[in-house]
Amino acid sequence: MARHIDVHADLPSAPPTTHDDRRCEHCGRPHGHTLRCLPDGRWLSPEGVWFDSDGHPAPWPDVVDYAGVRMSRSVVGLYRRSRAASKPQHLCRRCFLDSGRDTHRQVARIRSLMRFALGDLFEGAYSA
Ligand SMILES: [Zn+2]
Repeated sequence: MARHIDVHADLPSAPPTTHDDRRCEHCGRPHGHTLRCLPDGRWLSPEGVWFDSDGHPAPWPDVVDYAGVRMSRSVVGLYRRSRAASKPQHLCRRCFLDSGRDTHRQVARIRSLMRFALGDLFEGAYSA
């Protein structure tokens, strides 16, 4: 399971980064900006260019697509996929959740089964 890394505590040799130059390595979203996002993954950069969910330039949405726009604040963090992974990545929250979906499902399933196991041991913490 990936974990968020505190840059200053875990990577003392990493060069200090300002908040303005951090970008997601997958989709290119800048850190700390409120962006317009469409349900299909397109987002409007602060420079006024639309990008798709992979970070490639995308066409402007039509009126019907734009009706589903929502404002989202992008937060880019430094994540390491596993303890064995050597190189951490700057990912936005959306890309982090999307890339680790299988792992997150496995962890959710194990936690659910653990809840049932505790219920079996201590007279039911669930109603089933
Ligand atoms: Zn991203």
